[in-house]
Amino acid sequence: MIQVASLHDTPEGAPELSADVEVVIIGSGAAGAAAARRLARGGVRVLIVEEGPAVAPSQFVSDSFGAMAQLYRDAGAQVAFGPAFLPVLQGRCVGGSTVFNGAICWRLPRDVWQEWVAADPALEGGLPWEAIERALDEVERDLEVAPTDPAIAGRKNELMARGAAALGLEGRPTRRNVRGCEGLGRCLQGCPRGHKLGMDRTYLPEARTAGATLWAGCRVDAIAWRGTRALGVRGTTFSGGRFTVRASRAVVLAASAVQSPVLLQRSNIGDGPVGEGFQAHPGVSVAGRFDEPVRMWEGATQGYEVIGLRREGLKFEALGFGAEILAMRLPGAGAEFARAVGEMDRWADWGCAVRARARGTVRPSGRSGVKIRYALTDEDLGRVRRGVRVLGELLFAAGARAVACGVHGFAEQIDSPKALARFEEEGPRDPRAYPMAMTHLFGTCRMGSDPRTSVVRPDFRHHRIENLYVVDSSVFPTNIGVNPQNSILALATVAADGILRA
Ligand SMILES: Cc1cc2nc3c(=O)[nH]c(=O)nc-3n(C[C@H](O)[C@H](O)[C@H](O)COP(=O)(O)OP(=O)(O)OC[C@H]3O[C@@H](n4cnc5c(N)ncnc54)[C@H](O)[C@@H]3O)c2cc1C
Ligand code: SF4
Repeated sequence: MIQVASLHDTPEGAPELSADVEVVIIGSGAAGAAAARRLARGGVRVLIVEEGPAVAPSQFVSDSFGAMAQLYRDAGAQVAFGPAFLPVLQGRCVGGSTVFNGAICWRLPRDVWQEWVAADPALEGGLPWEAIERALDEVERDLEVAPTDPAIAGRKNELMARGAAALGLEGRPTRRNVRGCEGLGRCLQGCPRGHKLGMDRTYLPEARTAGATLWAGCRVDAIAWRGTRALGVRGTTFSGGRFTVRASRAVVLAASAVQSPVLLQRSNIGDGPVGEGFQAHPGVSVAGRFDEPVRMWEGATQGYEVIGLRREGLKFEALGFGAEILAMRLPGAGAEFARAVGEMDRWADWGCAVRARARGTVRPSGRSGVKIRYALTDEDLGRVRRGVRVLGELLFAAGARAVACGVHGFAEQIDSPKALARFEEEGPRDPRAYPMAMTHLFGTCRMGSDPRTSVVRPDFRHHRIENLYVVDSSVFPTNIGVNPQNSILALATVAADGILRA
């Protein structure tokens, strides 16, 4: 059952909310839900503790800023500090970021796993490819992953396909985890009809059917441990009450690549490189104006992707969001801006996710905050410039009449692809010039055989605290260059199988 903490809050002085279970799971996003479902189906008494609220599809709002306030951590205002402030978007609700993500589904590329094994051969036996493949197959089957139906793709996705074909770049309709998608274009605000098969619609109810309990509105403040054993967790409900959970078998940390390392540090479990090695896929976007109506807020939210440059660390996606966000990307001021707003239905905005090499840090800050530090390398910025160039070329190749790169220090609007070639060489070297955001996060509790250079073992167990497991993308040794949701679901499933065997 989903229990909301306020219903169980105790008046001052009364005993705090408490529970005794076999396994407590911290976080209900991709990683927590996958582990919960597997463990509950394996007959384990599981409690999932989630900081954010449970929100039903009928409660999702259509405007982007309202959705951020409702579903996103810090209302979407979390940033990484460095030479530039980079927004770091994450969920804080039952289902985590899967509730409002773009539904783009990728399998973990085998070449990425091979890179991990090359750097640490112990991973080959500890995290075998066959186990990952089996788990990926299961995720794809259960989440009904399939290419976007052309009938609901919408013009923005069709145009990207046209641009990719004209440039000879490999592209494809995005494979997504949806059922009966109507192309309402609202994935990033949460699908109001429940068509997106996020964790709130799938693994969490399935875990509940198998006997798991979920507490919403309960933030874990610390993991309790003694010697080499984790004992449980303690925390605070959203209305300020206290709770404790005793776990006889295991504590499973699935609070995301930002929150998991912070929770370890707050619990004085600072062994190894915890909070270091933070990696991401910074995303940059470019807008283009067409002669025909595009209405980028209609159709499958992210229904087409260009994948031909993945090995270069660049992946391109059609974007779909509300007019209020698109307005921020339109060029000009005063009358010129008003004109652009007047023809907003003709603009499309496409994004590029960059497999950046930069590594940052995540540390606790204040009573319950985090401080992320992150600086793109020169090589990363070179990739960002190349990404902007290719996005502009794709837009022109698809028929755009004008392109607005949104890069400070570069022409606000250009009307031919010629200027783009120069841009790759001569565009700004300053990261503050680029409109970027990060949504795919990795590496802050990385997995490995050596406790000096890793936080968990190849079987997801903490090096020192033997019944503490970390199962989210913080354990990924590196970023992966593709959308991570299904890789996280698969690896958390593999981790849960290990807990069942332990
Ligand atoms: C806008 C956006 C779009 C995206 N689009 C895609 C996409 O199309 N395809 C794709 O593959 N990936 C996408 N992603 C990324 C993907 O959704 C995430 O990588 C994935 O959900 C991460 O899983 P997770 O379990 O690590 O964390 P999350 O899903 O973020 O869940 C972590 C949960 O833990 C909770 N939590 C944190 N700390 C505590 C605490 N102390 N106590 C209790 N609970 C806590 C949080 O509130 C949160 O609900 C997108 C992400 C964003 C933000
Ligand atoms: S595109 Fe629209 S209908 Fe389809 S899953 Fe996303 S929000 Fe739902």
